[in-house]
Amino acid sequence: MSDLSTRTSLKRDAINRQIRSVDFPEKNLAKVSEYYGDNVFDPMRSDLITAEVKKILKDVSLGTKYLEREHAEIVAKAVTEWAISRGATHFCHWFQPLTGASAEKHDAFLSFKDGLPVDKFNASQLMQGEPDASSFPNGGTRSTFEARGYTSWDMTSPLFLVEGVNGKTLCVPTAFVSYHGDALDIKTPLLRSVESINTHTTKFLNLIGEKSTSVMATCGAEQEYFLVDKLFYFSRPDLVMTGRTLFGKSSAKHQQLDDHYFGAIPERVKSFMDELNFELHRLGIPAKTQHNEVAPGQYEIAPIFEDVNISADHNQLMMAIIKNVANRHDLVALLHEKPFAGINGSGKHVNWSLSDNLGTNLLEPGKEPHANHRFLAIVAIICEAVKRSAPSLRMAISGHGNDHRLGANEAPPSIISVYLGDTIQKIFESIMNNQTFTPDIDNSLDMGANQLAGLLKDNSDRNRTSPFAFTGNKFEFRAVGSSQAIGFPLTILNGAVASVLKESNKILEKEISGGKGIEEALFDLSKKWIISSKQTVFNGDNYSDDWVQEAKSRGLPNLRTTSDALDILGSKKEVNFLEDMGIYSPIELEMRQNVLVERYNTCREIEFETLLGLVFEHVIPSAVNYKEVLSTLILNEREIGMEPLVETEILADISDVLSSLYSSAKSLKKEIEGLNHDDPSEVSKVIANDLMGISEEIADHCNSIEGFVPDSLWTLPKYFDLLFIK
Ligand code: ADP
Ligand code: MG
Repeated sequence: MSDLSTRTSLKRDAINRQIRSVDFPEKNLAKVSEYYGDNVFDPMRSDLITAEVKKILKDVSLGTKYLEREHAEIVAKAVTEWAISRGATHFCHWFQPLTGASAEKHDAFLSFKDGLPVDKFNASQLMQGEPDASSFPNGGTRSTFEARGYTSWDMTSPLFLVEGVNGKTLCVPTAFVSYHGDALDIKTPLLRSVESINTHTTKFLNLIGEKSTSVMATCGAEQEYFLVDKLFYFSRPDLVMTGRTLFGKSSAKHQQLDDHYFGAIPERVKSFMDELNFELHRLGIPAKTQHNEVAPGQYEIAPIFEDVNISADHNQLMMAIIKNVANRHDLVALLHEKPFAGINGSGKHVNWSLSDNLGTNLLEPGKEPHANHRFLAIVAIICEAVKRSAPSLRMAISGHGNDHRLGANEAPPSIISVYLGDTIQKIFESIMNNQTFTPDIDNSLDMGANQLAGLLKDNSDRNRTSPFAFTGNKFEFRAVGSSQAIGFPLTILNGAVASVLKESNKILEKEISGGKGIEEALFDLSKKWIISSKQTVFNGDNYSDDWVQEAKSRGLPNLRTTSDALDILGSKKEVNFLEDMGIYSPIELEMRQNVLVERYNTCREIEFETLLGLVFEHVIPSAVNYKEVLSTLILNEREIGMEPLVETEILADISDVLSSLYSSAKSLKKEIEGLNHDDPSEVSKVIANDLMGISEEIADHCNSIEGFVPDSLWTLPKYFDLLFIK
């Protein structure tokens, strides 16, 4: 009847896990620097590549030269030697299709020459691959008769070795395009946006007299995730099928005591993290910070920032490696934005800045931000970019998972605003009002204890509620979801900023050639954008209901669901800047809209089917079993002349919830059957506006039943098991 024995033994086995100890050969090396990047091929360090070719490769990666076939041949040869000497047997083109995950197709080095086996990898194989594109999402741009797709080597991202338990594969980071050259992936438009940022920011700097020859956008993405024991994970079909629990009664204690955030890392988790760092470091992924996050079972890892393209590749790889290493520790890493109701979900704070080839961070305010005209102009340009492209930025972070976070009082709302912090805000106000800004003279903090090292106050405090916050020397796009491929939001952000830079350059050019001094021209430009973007700047509490009202009166868009956000891709007015900057063609935008709407619908439908499965296979049977126990008891008691009042009341209550659950489940089933799949956009609206409501009702009923049914009759792992047993 019950699953008593199973659940109890699951718990026992999970509690008695041995902590995995790994004997890496490098374990005893004291310094990470000695094995950092061991699994990355660096042509600059290869003995097989001459200094002359290295110089050419450098120019190619800076975009000032094209790669000639003869040089590609030299790299292919060197990398093959390197990979084979490390035990690699296969190579693969690694790319990021619109599924959001990374994709790879492996080929052996094995080949035959004069009838004898040889290990071979040539320039063509390095530079171009041809996966069958018809099996990847393409949003209807191709019919299957022209299913050809190409992967093309991205020379700016390093080649790397992936180690399996029994073999190694050389991975080539690539872009993925259709037969007609349309981007079918996340990387291609990102690379275009990188170029756009480079062109317009360098021009901006040159116009104001700086000597920079190139500018890159930089990114450090803070990745949040949950860890649960594998035994419980596989006993929750909803986690396996959808990445989140579709219902679950909150445990009495969760995150109310704030005792998990930055708490001591449990030993089993620490041993997972050590192995994770080891893997990441050997792959040249600069993992730096790790800690417990707010919710029980939740953790974070953050790398040192890098160029956005590399950082996007590294984040994709990092997500995959987190999952693999967790598995080795009998844990499952949940990257979903909202695995558990009632406690914090997971985000990915995308820290972003601009840096020139001389190493200057353009968002570094310096000691006197009010006198730093370049800095103020760049910040003002970014504010204007966010104002203009707020709907597109919101679209770029949409997804069925993130819908549970945005606006759920744990993550920024779906209203995109900018937080500047007190100092910059005051400087901006003085510029707007033509007043002189007087900085606070003393910016040291008085802690009232002389034993402590002195602290200097930052120019900006933190505002954890803002979706897009200035945090001292970078912006932090905080509304990105934990499972998302960051390349997409980075592309939109780069494009938005590049577009306003382009317009600013025209203004500056005109003013400066008309005789205006550089400082004055920068000041006027800043003032123009500060005034224009005023409504998007908000330093207050983004979680409050008042803000939703105020944002409405300011005219800020509030696209609440993914379904609404994806409409933006079809709005010429909103996405025109992306075409204008050469980042997406109209057909590529349309393709993305189709793919993303389909993905939203499919993921939700999988959730609904899984939910109904759980209701009929687990929740209703548990409730019915308990009813049977109660009924028998009541009968028995009555037989001996007693009136079992409490049991009768419980039986009535549980019967009520059970019938509500049954009727909601039937109505969800009926609605799903009625969906008109010929119109995916309409389906997404019905799902977001109606079906989600019904599924939440079902979840509530399931939670009530979980609260009634004796633990021994409940067949699914509970939040308590998932969050606390490790
Ligand atoms: P936090 O601001 O969240 O307390 P840090 O200041 O250490 O923590 O940075 C968080 C993330 O921001 C890290 O991944 C870090 O590499 C990244 N970051 C720092 N400076 C920059 C920058 N100039 N450009 C992009 N990312 C940056
Ligand atoms: Mg942060």
